[in-house]
Amino acid sequence: MNQNKGILYLVPSPIGNLNDISKRIIDTLNSVDYIFCEDTRNTQKLLNLLNIKKTTISCHEHNEKEMSFKLISFINEGKNIAYMSDAGYPAISDPGEILVKEASKNNIKVVPLSGPTASLTALIASSLDTSHFLFYGFLKSKHSERLKEIENLKTFPHTIILYEAPHRINDTLKDLYEVLGDRKITIARELSKIHEEFIYTSLKEITSLNKEYKGELVLVLEGNSLSKEETDLSIIKDKYNELIKNNVSKKDAIISLSIIYKINKNFLKKMFINE
Ligand code: SAM
Repeated sequence: MNQNKGILYLVPSPIGNLNDISKRIIDTLNSVDYIFCEDTRNTQKLLNLLNIKKTTISCHEHNEKEMSFKLISFINEGKNIAYMSDAGYPAISDPGEILVKEASKNNIKVVPLSGPTASLTALIASSLDTSHFLFYGFLKSKHSERLKEIENLKTFPHTIILYEAPHRINDTLKDLYEVLGDRKITIARELSKIHEEFIYTSLKEITSLNKEYKGELVLVLEGNSLSKEETDLSIIKDKYNELIKNNVSKKDAIISLSIIYKINKNFLKKMFINE
């Protein structure tokens, strides 16, 4: 690594509570030459509160690639740069990933600072399994694409962390219930803020309430607790229901599923028709 080059610092910002700013974050922001950030107005407010005077440069999801070239040329000249997104960790459902990729391609040292992120803050208080988990972030906003994504998560056996916007949460909860069936879910709202709330519930219960949500939300969802056989059976049952919905006769549906999944016809008949 070239010693004359500067460093790219990835600096987390508060997800609500300003006291989450650490001394190391303040020292780093004071020490760098420039602060690249997702929204200069937002970051400027934070810098004013911390009494830090630095030049901020806008770098958001729509110009990250172009700005990465500018950032690299500054760092090659020996300048140290901090990158901050609006809340939490850069590069976690926020810009930053492209900057890091370009920095690494150019042999530039990247120093990540630790600090607040909504995902892990929600997970550790979710009362769900924390030993293994998947951070999934936002599901797609288009309904058909979201259903496909949830379908792909169906057999995942560990806890799943999702980000969601308040205006879409009820649709997402309904989709999750429709595809995954009933599961435990914890909704973490307004983390680290005055109205912080944890709703420990199930998909069945929460979808029946059709509540209104305000503020920022993380969904922490129980993984698939069914055995492999039970999961396979529930998938076959879904396919069976789909065929029936498409006017295939019960008998024909059973025959084709028994061929596709190599399962005894009478067993399926007993499961689905005589249940
Ligand atoms: N980079 C951020 C991080 O490290 O958590 C995530 C940014 S992403 C654009 C914004 C989403 O994060 C929100 O829609 C919400 O799902 C979640 N989020 C951010 N702050 C939150 C908070 N205080 N409470 C609950 N969820 C929050």
